[in-house]
Amino acid sequence: MAEETIFSKIIRKEIPADIVYQDDLVTAFRDISPRAPTHIVIIPNNLIPTVDDVTPEDEQVLGRLFTAASKIARAEGIAKDGYRLIVNCRRHGGQEVYHLHMHLLGGRPLGRMVAD
Ligand code: 5GP
Repeated sequence: MAEETIFSKIIRKEIPADIVYQDDLVTAFRDISPRAPTHIVIIPNNLIPTVDDVTPEDEQVLGRLFTAASKIARAEGIAKDGYRLIVNCRRHGGQEVYHLHMHLLGGRPLGRMVAD
């Protein structure tokens, strides 16, 4: 059984976070340390530690991450100019919180995809 992270507490509203969207499958909140004018973290409500842990049973919730991202981007007013979705996996991917999440970043040109 995977260990819960701070993100499970955010989903259950046991610790404060600026939640911008929540439904039966996913929760989205503003990143505490934003890297762009809009920086939102979108997470499954169930704990999947990393992309390396996903199974076919997770396909519905993983799809919901994208439909939520699209909806939130429009609500944030960044859809027309565009944005970037990032999912980091483990150490080389730079993952810090082991509860799978999608970063939604926008509000300015984001530059190259990967730092050299
Ligand atoms: P990772 O590096 O794992 O892909 O991204 C984790 C993200 O979660 C980071 O951008 C970090 O700033 C954010 N984060 C970590 N702890 C908290 C928290 O307690 N509240 C919020 N709102 N964001 C957090």
